[in-house]
Amino acid sequence: MATLELDSVTKTFQDGDEEVVAVDDISMSIDDGEFLVVVGPSGCGKSTTLRMIAGLETITDGTLSIDDRVVNDVKSQDRDIAMVFQSYALYPHMSVRENMSFGLEESTDLPDDEIARMVTETGELLDIGELLNRKPKDLSGGQQQRVALGRAIVRDPEVFLMDEPLSNLDAKLRAEMRTELQRLQDDLGVTTVYVTHDQTEAMTMGDRIAILDGGELQQIAEPLKCYHEPANQFVASFLGEPSMNFFDVRLDGDRLVGDVFEYPVGDDVRSDLGETTDLVFGIRPEAVELVEGKSDAHEFEMTVDVVEPMGDENTVYLHFDPDADPESAETLVATIDGFTRVSEGDSVVARIPEDAIHLF
Ligand code: ADP
Repeated sequence: MATLELDSVTKTFQDGDEEVVAVDDISMSIDDGEFLVVVGPSGCGKSTTLRMIAGLETITDGTLSIDDRVVNDVKSQDRDIAMVFQSYALYPHMSVRENMSFGLEESTDLPDDEIARMVTETGELLDIGELLNRKPKDLSGGQQQRVALGRAIVRDPEVFLMDEPLSNLDAKLRAEMRTELQRLQDDLGVTTVYVTHDQTEAMTMGDRIAILDGGELQQIAEPLKCYHEPANQFVASFLGEPSMNFFDVRLDGDRLVGDVFEYPVGDDVRSDLGETTDLVFGIRPEAVELVEGKSDAHEFEMTVDVVEPMGDENTVYLHFDPDADPESAETLVATIDGFTRVSEGDSVVARIPEDAIHLF
Protein backbone atom coordinates (compact mmCIF):
# COMPACT_ATOMS: atom_id res chain seq x y z
CA MET A 1 0.00 0.00 0.00
CA ALA A 2 1.18 3.48 -0.73
CA THR A 3 0.69 7.19 -0.66
CA LEU A 4 1.12 9.24 -3.82
CA GLU A 5 2.21 12.84 -3.94
CA LEU A 6 2.27 15.21 -6.89
CA ASP A 7 4.14 18.42 -6.16
CA SER A 8 3.77 21.16 -8.81
CA VAL A 9 3.73 18.57 -11.57
CA THR A 10 3.74 20.01 -15.09
CA LYS A 11 3.82 18.35 -18.47
CA THR A 12 4.43 20.17 -21.72
CA PHE A 13 4.43 18.60 -25.17
CA GLN A 14 6.07 20.04 -28.23
CA ASP A 15 3.53 20.06 -31.04
CA GLY A 16 5.47 21.32 -34.07
CA ASP A 17 6.46 24.87 -33.14
CA GLU A 18 3.87 25.07 -30.42
CA GLU A 19 4.25 24.13 -26.79
CA VAL A 20 1.16 22.44 -25.33
CA VAL A 21 0.81 22.58 -21.56
CA ALA A 22 -1.14 19.37 -20.92
CA VAL A 23 -0.79 19.42 -17.12
CA ASP A 24 -0.18 22.73 -15.42
CA ASP A 25 1.40 22.83 -11.96
CA ILE A 26 -0.76 20.21 -10.26
CA SER A 27 -0.21 19.42 -6.58
CA MET A 28 -2.17 16.76 -4.73
CA SER A 29 -1.65 14.05 -2.13
CA ILE A 30 -3.42 10.73 -2.37
CA ASP A 31 -3.76 8.78 0.85
CA ASP A 32 -2.82 5.19 1.43
CA GLY A 33 -5.79 3.07 0.34
CA GLU A 34 -7.70 6.01 -1.09
CA PHE A 35 -9.84 5.82 -4.24
CA LEU A 36 -9.24 9.08 -6.09
CA VAL A 37 -11.24 9.81 -9.24
CA VAL A 38 -9.69 12.29 -11.67
CA VAL A 39 -12.43 13.82 -13.78
CA GLY A 40 -12.83 16.56 -16.35
CA PRO A 41 -13.73 17.18 -19.99
CA SER A 42 -11.83 15.69 -22.89
CA GLY A 43 -8.34 17.17 -23.26
CA CYS A 44 -8.12 18.51 -19.69
CA GLY A 45 -5.00 16.46 -18.89
CA LYS A 46 -6.43 13.42 -17.07
CA SER A 47 -4.65 10.73 -19.07
CA THR A 48 -1.39 12.63 -19.11
CA THR A 49 -1.53 12.91 -15.31
CA LEU A 50 -2.17 9.18 -14.99
CA ARG A 51 0.53 8.31 -17.51
CA MET A 52 3.08 10.37 -15.58
CA ILE A 53 2.17 8.49 -12.39
CA ALA A 54 2.51 5.26 -14.35
CA GLY A 55 5.92 6.27 -15.68
CA LEU A 56 4.71 6.10 -19.28
CA GLU A 57 5.30 9.83 -19.75
CA THR A 58 8.21 11.90 -18.43
CA ILE A 59 7.52 14.76 -16.02
CA THR A 60 8.54 18.18 -17.37
CA ASP A 61 8.59 19.92 -14.01
CA GLY A 62 7.78 19.15 -10.38
CA THR A 63 8.10 15.93 -8.42
CA LEU A 64 6.12 12.75 -8.10
CA SER A 65 6.59 10.62 -4.98
CA ILE A 66 5.28 7.19 -4.12
CA ASP A 67 5.56 6.51 -0.39
CA ASP A 68 7.82 9.54 0.07
CA ARG A 69 10.27 8.33 -2.55
CA VAL A 70 10.70 10.60 -5.56
CA VAL A 71 10.10 8.44 -8.62
CA ASN A 72 10.46 10.95 -11.48
CA ASP A 73 13.34 8.91 -12.88
CA VAL A 74 12.15 5.45 -11.82
CA LYS A 75 11.14 3.22 -14.72
CA SER A 76 7.50 2.21 -15.04
CA GLN A 77 8.18 -1.47 -14.30
CA ASP A 78 9.97 -0.54 -11.06
CA ARG A 79 7.12 1.57 -9.65
CA ASP A 80 4.97 -1.32 -8.38
CA ILE A 81 1.83 -0.08 -10.05
CA ALA A 82 -0.72 -1.85 -12.23
CA MET A 83 -2.68 -0.09 -14.92
CA VAL A 84 -6.08 -0.94 -16.42
CA PHE A 85 -6.87 0.64 -19.78
CA GLN A 86 -10.12 1.40 -21.54
CA SER A 87 -9.05 -0.90 -24.38
CA TYR A 88 -8.32 -3.80 -21.96
CA ALA A 89 -5.07 -4.46 -23.90
CA LEU A 90 -5.39 -8.24 -23.63
CA TYR A 91 -3.09 -10.49 -25.68
CA PRO A 92 -5.43 -12.10 -28.24
CA HIS A 93 -3.35 -15.27 -28.76
CA MET A 94 -3.15 -16.04 -25.03
CA SER A 95 -5.79 -17.67 -22.85
CA VAL A 96 -7.31 -15.79 -19.94
CA ARG A 97 -5.02 -17.70 -17.57
CA GLU A 98 -1.96 -16.80 -19.64
CA ASN A 99 -3.04 -13.16 -19.90
CA MET A 100 -3.27 -12.99 -16.14
CA SER A 101 -0.07 -14.89 -15.33
CA PHE A 102 2.15 -13.34 -17.99
CA GLY A 103 3.10 -10.22 -16.00
CA LEU A 104 3.93 -12.24 -12.91
CA GLU A 105 6.10 -14.68 -14.83
CA GLU A 106 8.02 -11.77 -16.35
CA SER A 107 8.50 -9.72 -13.22
CA THR A 108 8.86 -12.21 -10.37
CA ASP A 109 10.68 -15.44 -9.53
CA LEU A 110 7.55 -17.05 -8.16
CA PRO A 111 7.23 -20.78 -8.93
CA ASP A 112 4.69 -21.74 -11.62
CA ASP A 113 2.34 -23.50 -9.22
CA GLU A 114 2.25 -20.43 -6.96
CA ILE A 115 1.40 -18.20 -9.96
CA ALA A 116 -1.29 -20.69 -11.04
CA ARG A 117 -2.79 -20.60 -7.54
CA MET A 118 -2.83 -16.76 -7.51
CA VAL A 119 -4.48 -16.61 -10.95
CA THR A 120 -7.14 -19.15 -9.92
CA GLU A 121 -7.86 -17.21 -6.75
CA THR A 122 -8.12 -13.87 -8.59
CA GLY A 123 -10.31 -15.52 -11.25
CA GLU A 124 -12.71 -16.62 -8.52
CA LEU A 125 -12.67 -13.19 -6.90
CA LEU A 126 -13.80 -11.69 -10.21
CA ASP A 127 -16.22 -14.44 -11.14
CA ILE A 128 -14.26 -15.51 -14.20
CA GLY A 129 -12.98 -18.78 -12.72
CA GLU A 130 -14.84 -20.76 -15.41
CA LEU A 131 -13.29 -18.80 -18.25
CA LEU A 132 -9.57 -19.23 -17.58
CA ASN A 133 -8.96 -21.44 -20.62
CA ARG A 134 -10.78 -19.23 -23.11
CA LYS A 135 -9.21 -16.75 -25.51
CA PRO A 136 -10.23 -13.06 -25.26
CA LYS A 137 -12.24 -13.24 -28.51
CA ASP A 138 -14.53 -15.82 -26.89
CA LEU A 139 -15.46 -13.45 -24.06
CA SER A 140 -18.06 -10.68 -23.81
CA GLY A 141 -16.89 -7.08 -23.31
CA GLY A 142 -17.74 -7.29 -19.62
CA GLN A 143 -15.76 -10.51 -19.20
CA GLN A 144 -12.76 -9.04 -21.04
CA GLN A 145 -12.93 -6.09 -18.67
CA ARG A 146 -12.78 -8.48 -15.71
CA VAL A 147 -9.72 -10.20 -17.18
CA ALA A 148 -8.00 -6.83 -17.56
CA LEU A 149 -8.82 -6.10 -13.94
CA GLY A 150 -7.70 -9.56 -12.89
CA ARG A 151 -4.37 -9.04 -14.56
CA ALA A 152 -3.86 -5.91 -12.47
CA ILE A 153 -5.11 -7.44 -9.20
CA VAL A 154 -3.06 -10.63 -9.43
CA ARG A 155 0.13 -8.59 -9.35
CA ASP A 156 -0.82 -7.26 -5.93
CA PRO A 157 0.57 -3.79 -6.70
CA GLU A 158 0.99 -0.77 -4.41
CA VAL A 159 -1.15 1.38 -6.70
CA PHE A 160 -3.88 0.77 -9.27
CA LEU A 161 -4.15 3.23 -12.14
CA MET A 162 -7.30 3.02 -14.23
CA ASP A 163 -7.97 4.98 -17.42
CA GLU A 164 -11.70 5.01 -18.29
CA PRO A 165 -11.89 1.24 -17.66
CA LEU A 166 -15.68 1.03 -17.99
CA SER A 167 -16.30 3.24 -21.01
CA ASN A 168 -16.60 0.36 -23.50
CA LEU A 169 -19.36 -1.35 -21.52
CA ASP A 170 -23.09 -0.80 -21.99
CA ALA A 171 -24.94 1.31 -19.42
CA LYS A 172 -26.26 -1.58 -17.31
CA LEU A 173 -22.93 -3.39 -17.09
CA ARG A 174 -21.18 -0.13 -16.36
CA ALA A 175 -23.46 0.48 -13.39
CA GLU A 176 -22.83 -3.06 -12.10
CA MET A 177 -19.08 -2.77 -12.53
CA ARG A 178 -19.04 0.60 -10.76
CA THR A 179 -20.36 -1.03 -7.63
CA GLU A 180 -18.17 -4.07 -8.00
CA LEU A 181 -15.00 -2.05 -8.52
CA GLN A 182 -15.73 -0.02 -5.42
CA ARG A 183 -16.28 -3.19 -3.40
CA LEU A 184 -13.06 -4.73 -4.72
CA GLN A 185 -11.06 -1.62 -4.00
CA ASP A 186 -12.52 -1.49 -0.50
CA ASP A 187 -11.63 -5.14 0.14
CA LEU A 188 -8.14 -4.91 -1.35
CA GLY A 189 -7.42 -1.46 0.10
CA VAL A 190 -5.05 -0.58 -2.74
CA THR A 191 -4.47 3.12 -3.45
CA THR A 192 -6.30 3.80 -6.70
CA VAL A 193 -6.29 6.64 -9.20
CA TYR A 194 -9.20 6.34 -11.60
CA VAL A 195 -9.61 8.58 -14.64
CA THR A 196 -12.99 9.24 -16.21
CA HIS A 197 -14.94 11.94 -18.03
CA ASP A 198 -18.17 10.55 -16.57
CA GLN A 199 -19.48 12.59 -13.66
CA THR A 200 -21.66 9.72 -12.39
CA GLU A 201 -18.56 7.56 -11.94
CA ALA A 202 -16.83 10.45 -10.22
CA MET A 203 -19.71 11.18 -7.86
CA THR A 204 -20.38 7.56 -6.93
CA MET A 205 -16.97 5.89 -6.86
CA GLY A 206 -14.40 8.27 -5.45
CA ASP A 207 -13.47 8.83 -1.81
CA ARG A 208 -12.42 12.17 -3.27
CA ILE A 209 -12.52 13.60 -6.76
CA ALA A 210 -9.97 15.79 -8.47
CA ILE A 211 -11.56 18.00 -11.13
CA LEU A 212 -9.29 19.25 -13.93
CA ASP A 213 -9.84 21.82 -16.62
CA GLY A 214 -7.28 23.11 -19.10
CA GLY A 215 -4.54 21.10 -17.37
CA GLU A 216 -5.21 22.82 -14.04
CA LEU A 217 -6.60 21.33 -10.85
CA GLN A 218 -9.89 23.09 -10.09
CA GLN A 219 -10.84 21.33 -6.87
CA ILE A 220 -9.99 18.17 -4.95
CA ALA A 221 -12.44 17.11 -2.26
CA GLU A 222 -15.15 14.58 -1.35
CA PRO A 223 -17.72 14.31 -4.17
CA LEU A 224 -20.57 15.90 -2.21
CA LYS A 225 -18.36 18.74 -1.08
CA CYS A 226 -17.47 19.49 -4.71
CA TYR A 227 -21.17 19.33 -5.58
CA HIS A 228 -22.47 21.52 -2.78
CA GLU A 229 -19.46 23.78 -2.31
CA PRO A 230 -17.92 24.08 -5.77
CA ALA A 231 -14.65 26.02 -5.74
CA ASN A 232 -15.56 27.90 -8.91
CA GLN A 233 -18.07 28.17 -11.72
CA PHE A 234 -16.36 25.48 -13.78
CA VAL A 235 -16.80 22.86 -11.03
CA ALA A 236 -20.37 24.01 -10.44
CA SER A 237 -21.27 23.57 -14.10
CA PHE A 238 -19.34 20.33 -14.59
CA LEU A 239 -21.10 18.44 -11.79
CA GLY A 240 -24.87 18.03 -11.95
CA GLU A 241 -27.37 17.19 -14.68
CA PRO A 242 -29.15 19.36 -15.74
CA SER A 243 -26.40 21.86 -15.11
CA MET A 244 -26.62 24.62 -12.52
CA ASN A 245 -28.46 27.77 -13.75
CA PHE A 246 -26.19 30.80 -14.12
CA PHE A 247 -27.13 34.49 -14.45
CA ASP A 248 -24.91 37.56 -14.61
CA VAL A 249 -25.77 39.90 -11.76
CA ARG A 250 -24.49 43.08 -10.12
CA LEU A 251 -24.58 43.77 -6.40
CA ASP A 252 -26.49 47.00 -5.82
CA GLY A 253 -27.02 47.77 -2.11
CA ASP A 254 -28.76 44.75 -0.66
CA ARG A 255 -29.93 43.37 -4.00
CA LEU A 256 -28.42 41.30 -6.76
CA VAL A 257 -29.64 42.80 -9.99
CA GLY A 258 -29.76 40.68 -13.13
CA ASP A 259 -31.17 41.41 -16.59
CA VAL A 260 -34.60 40.05 -15.72
CA PHE A 261 -34.78 39.70 -11.96
CA GLU A 262 -33.71 41.24 -8.68
CA TYR A 263 -32.81 39.17 -5.67
CA PRO A 264 -32.37 40.62 -2.15
CA VAL A 265 -29.52 39.11 -0.11
CA GLY A 266 -28.74 39.21 3.61
CA ASP A 267 -25.74 40.82 5.32
CA ASP A 268 -23.83 37.55 5.61
CA VAL A 269 -23.91 36.99 1.84
CA ARG A 270 -22.88 40.61 1.23
CA SER A 271 -20.01 40.50 3.68
CA ASP A 272 -18.62 37.35 2.00
CA LEU A 273 -18.41 39.23 -1.29
CA GLY A 274 -16.05 41.99 -0.16
CA GLU A 275 -15.59 44.61 -2.86
CA THR A 276 -16.81 42.46 -5.75
CA THR A 277 -19.95 43.73 -7.45
CA ASP A 278 -20.06 41.91 -10.81
CA LEU A 279 -20.99 38.33 -10.11
CA VAL A 280 -22.45 35.17 -11.50
CA PHE A 281 -25.53 33.95 -9.65
CA GLY A 282 -25.92 30.14 -9.60
CA ILE A 283 -28.80 27.94 -8.53
CA ARG A 284 -29.11 24.17 -9.01
CA PRO A 285 -32.28 23.00 -10.80
CA GLU A 286 -33.27 20.74 -7.87
CA ALA A 287 -33.01 23.67 -5.44
CA VAL A 288 -35.76 25.61 -7.25
CA GLU A 289 -39.20 25.02 -5.68
CA LEU A 290 -42.62 25.63 -7.19
CA VAL A 291 -44.90 27.22 -4.57
CA GLU A 292 -48.50 28.43 -4.30
CA GLY A 293 -48.67 32.21 -4.74
CA LYS A 294 -45.88 34.74 -4.44
CA SER A 295 -45.24 35.81 -0.86
CA ASP A 296 -41.67 37.12 -0.78
CA ALA A 297 -38.92 38.60 -2.91
CA HIS A 298 -37.18 35.24 -3.40
CA GLU A 299 -40.22 34.04 -5.35
CA PHE A 300 -40.85 34.82 -9.01
CA GLU A 301 -43.89 34.66 -11.24
CA MET A 302 -42.81 32.63 -14.24
CA THR A 303 -44.15 30.85 -17.30
CA VAL A 304 -43.57 27.20 -18.10
CA ASP A 305 -41.89 26.90 -21.48
CA VAL A 306 -41.07 23.19 -21.74
CA VAL A 307 -41.71 20.16 -19.50
CA GLU A 308 -39.55 17.06 -19.84
CA PRO A 309 -41.18 14.22 -17.87
CA MET A 310 -38.55 11.75 -16.59
CA GLY A 311 -40.93 9.56 -14.59
CA ASP A 312 -39.73 10.12 -11.05
CA GLU A 313 -39.10 13.79 -11.75
CA ASN A 314 -39.81 16.50 -14.30
CA THR A 315 -37.33 18.91 -15.79
CA VAL A 316 -39.14 22.19 -16.27
CA TYR A 317 -37.88 25.17 -18.28
CA LEU A 318 -39.28 28.43 -16.96
CA HIS A 319 -39.23 32.04 -18.23
CA PHE A 320 -38.85 34.98 -15.93
CA ASP A 321 -40.74 37.31 -18.23
CA PRO A 322 -44.21 36.04 -19.19
CA ASP A 323 -44.37 38.35 -22.21
CA ALA A 324 -40.91 37.69 -23.58
CA ASP A 325 -40.23 35.89 -26.81
CA PRO A 326 -39.25 32.32 -25.73
CA GLU A 327 -36.20 32.49 -27.99
CA SER A 328 -34.68 35.40 -26.12
CA ALA A 329 -36.17 35.10 -22.61
CA GLU A 330 -33.89 34.06 -19.77
CA THR A 331 -34.61 30.51 -18.76
CA LEU A 332 -34.53 28.94 -15.32
CA VAL A 333 -34.33 25.14 -15.29
CA ALA A 334 -36.03 23.43 -12.35
CA THR A 335 -36.18 19.76 -11.42
CA ILE A 336 -39.39 18.95 -9.60
CA ASP A 337 -40.92 15.68 -8.50
CA GLY A 338 -42.82 13.66 -11.07
CA PHE A 339 -46.19 13.96 -9.31
CA THR A 340 -46.32 17.74 -9.64
CA ARG A 341 -48.38 18.36 -12.75
CA VAL A 342 -47.35 21.36 -14.81
CA SER A 343 -47.91 22.02 -18.49
CA GLU A 344 -46.41 24.27 -21.10
CA GLY A 345 -47.83 27.78 -20.87
CA ASP A 346 -48.80 27.48 -17.17
CA SER A 347 -48.12 30.43 -14.86
CA VAL A 348 -46.25 29.28 -11.77
CA VAL A 349 -44.36 30.78 -8.85
CA ALA A 350 -40.76 29.58 -8.46
CA ARG A 351 -38.92 29.98 -5.18
CA ILE A 352 -35.11 30.34 -5.14
CA PRO A 353 -34.08 29.75 -1.51
CA GLU A 354 -31.28 32.05 -0.36
CA ASP A 355 -29.36 29.25 1.37
CA ALA A 356 -29.12 27.40 -1.97
CA ILE A 357 -27.66 30.16 -4.13
CA HIS A 358 -24.03 30.23 -5.25
CA LEU A 359 -22.14 33.36 -6.22
CA PHE A 360 -19.01 33.29 -8.34
P1 ADP B 1 -7.66 13.89 -21.34
O1 ADP B 1 -7.16 12.56 -20.89
O2 ADP B 1 -8.22 14.70 -20.21
O3 ADP B 1 -8.64 13.80 -22.49
P2 ADP B 1 -4.95 14.30 -22.24
O4 ADP B 1 -4.15 14.15 -21.02
O5 ADP B 1 -4.99 13.13 -23.18
O6 ADP B 1 -6.43 14.76 -21.88
O7 ADP B 1 -4.43 15.55 -23.08
C1 ADP B 1 -4.22 16.83 -22.50
C2 ADP B 1 -3.71 17.78 -23.57
O8 ADP B 1 -2.42 17.40 -23.99
C3 ADP B 1 -4.55 17.83 -24.84
O9 ADP B 1 -4.56 19.14 -25.31
C4 ADP B 1 -3.81 16.93 -25.78
O10 ADP B 1 -4.06 17.28 -27.11
C5 ADP B 1 -2.37 17.18 -25.40
N1 ADP B 1 -1.51 16.01 -25.64
C6 ADP B 1 -1.62 14.78 -25.06
N2 ADP B 1 -0.65 13.96 -25.50
C7 ADP B 1 0.08 14.68 -26.40
C8 ADP B 1 1.23 14.41 -27.22
N3 ADP B 1 1.82 13.21 -27.19
N4 ADP B 1 1.69 15.41 -28.02
C9 ADP B 1 1.10 16.63 -28.04
N5 ADP B 1 0.03 16.95 -27.29
C10 ADP B 1 -0.48 16.01 -26.48
